[in-house]
Amino acid sequence: GFVTDRSHLCSNHPFATSTVPPDSGSYNILSSLETLSLDGHFIFDNIHHAAKDFGNRYHFLPLAVLHPKSVSDISSTIKHVFEMGPASELTVAARGHGHSLEGQAQAHRGIIINMESLRVPEMHVHTGKLPYVDVSGGELWINILHETLKHGLTPKSWTDYLHLTVGGTLSNAGISGQAFRHGPQISNVYQLEVVTGKGEVVTCSDKQNADLFYAVLGGLGQFGIITRARISLEPAPKMVKWIRVLYSDFSVFTKDQEHLILSENSFNYIEGFVIINRTGLLNNWRSSFNPKDPLQASQFNSDGRTLFCLEMATYFNPDETDIMDQKTESLLSKLSYLPSTLFLSEISYLEFLDRVHISELKLRAKGLWEIPHPWLNLLIPKSRIHDFAKKVFGNILTDTSNGPILIYPVNKSKWNNRTSLVTPDEDVFYLVAFLTSAMPSSTGTDGLDHILTQNKRILNFCEKAHLGMKQYLPHYSTQEEWQAHFGPRWKVFVQRKSAYDPLAILAPGQRIFQKAL
Ligand code: FAD
Repeated sequence: GFVTDRSHLCSNHPFATSTVPPDSGSYNILSSLETLSLDGHFIFDNIHHAAKDFGNRYHFLPLAVLHPKSVSDISSTIKHVFEMGPASELTVAARGHGHSLEGQAQAHRGIIINMESLRVPEMHVHTGKLPYVDVSGGELWINILHETLKHGLTPKSWTDYLHLTVGGTLSNAGISGQAFRHGPQISNVYQLEVVTGKGEVVTCSDKQNADLFYAVLGGLGQFGIITRARISLEPAPKMVKWIRVLYSDFSVFTKDQEHLILSENSFNYIEGFVIINRTGLLNNWRSSFNPKDPLQASQFNSDGRTLFCLEMATYFNPDETDIMDQKTESLLSKLSYLPSTLFLSEISYLEFLDRVHISELKLRAKGLWEIPHPWLNLLIPKSRIHDFAKKVFGNILTDTSNGPILIYPVNKSKWNNRTSLVTPDEDVFYLVAFLTSAMPSSTGTDGLDHILTQNKRILNFCEKAHLGMKQYLPHYSTQEEWQAHFGPRWKVFVQRKSAYDPLAILAPGQRIFQKAL
């Protein structure tokens, strides 16, 4: 038989690693995979990259990596695993761009499906009244942007970083500064093609196989592999006015943010972030950098104070500059930011959306991209955001932040509550993202242990204070914790699992269900 040690699946050890060579049972599996007739191919050697992700903390080695060339490659493989029955512990994980944080796209001694190899369907933009684009589940958002811009069109809702796959973000939500207006990416999909945990290929939408459609959206890869998505588009602007203003008072900051996300004719993009304790430049910031550049606002020095930066953007075309300026001015005139902290710039729409890639290149050049990322993403109900801020920014994270902390509200009326994603129980809630980097082998405040302890303190506080917080990109190690995360929706989640992936073959790295229990 096929024997594996699965004890690590419940371990919380950040560097859990498996490098055990395949045993004889595994060899049987490998040779059985080789008998499948495929358009693409399996790789069995040098597959360590599939045991790595952006989080850089979990490393589970698979047995094989499938490079699919067709949807039927994926379907045949899963069918094959399904037919082995519950006695086999073989699992399958789709791997998008591998930008998970805690091994979610990994499968210990399982099969990884390298989704970026799936080049079908070829991207196809449909113009017309309700424009959309059909893309492969393994397509990167940056490629979709380039392709749709050729037709003067663009997806509506984004993530801050575009080198992520469609299947990867739709399995979570896809949240950025457009979400208050359009909802997350999972609210902007018309149709999916999915390969279920039984190997069936199913087309689904709000009208057709709706239960599977909503299960898969925000479904953490538990119900099927997204092989194709139909994404809604709108006319693309050419330019973006990018604006940052600063606040020293958290209440004033959130009041303005909430006002903006609930206003009718608001900005196109609204986010915000926290600036903790950068000393030395506050008094001479006007002379030390160009106040018109919004990038500089994040380097703004607070002399030990915590500041809050509100970030906004207006989309426009060059022939509408006057109207856009008037609108921007009128919106800004209603805000109560610190006088003389208005940072403005104009850049192309493409540059604006791909802005984080610039930081990636800089960090890569310094060897600071492929280091551990103990990120923590939380959704906090509006009614408790002040309690949260008081404790977290006033007590837990007073000295330093080891990376950006994003904080912005979204409007739940734009989110479809039939998806698998769970959010707080209020009409408005905040995304708070601690995007920390840990210095390898540091034992100081920038080391992994220190950051993980801080994360734990934040999570413990949320729980003790009954904030009604929900984790985004959730990570838990026991089923009880998952049950608590889903709350009253756990029952439906389990029902959907038994309908679409009854043997719990898919996305084992999420650690929600275990195969062959
Ligand atoms: P992977 O890590 O490869 O996979 C994620 C999960 O989805 C795994 O469980 C995997 O098995 C499953 N999966 C992958 N492909 C498929 C598929 N085709 N069908 C079914 N399941 C699949 N998120 C936001 O919402 N907003 C942001 O602004 C944002 N910014 C980010 C910035 C950076 C630098 C990084 C690293 C991440 C960011 N994220 C953001 C989080 C990101 O959306 C998720 O980590 C996402 O899962 C990454 O996509 P991926 O293609 O790398 O997925």
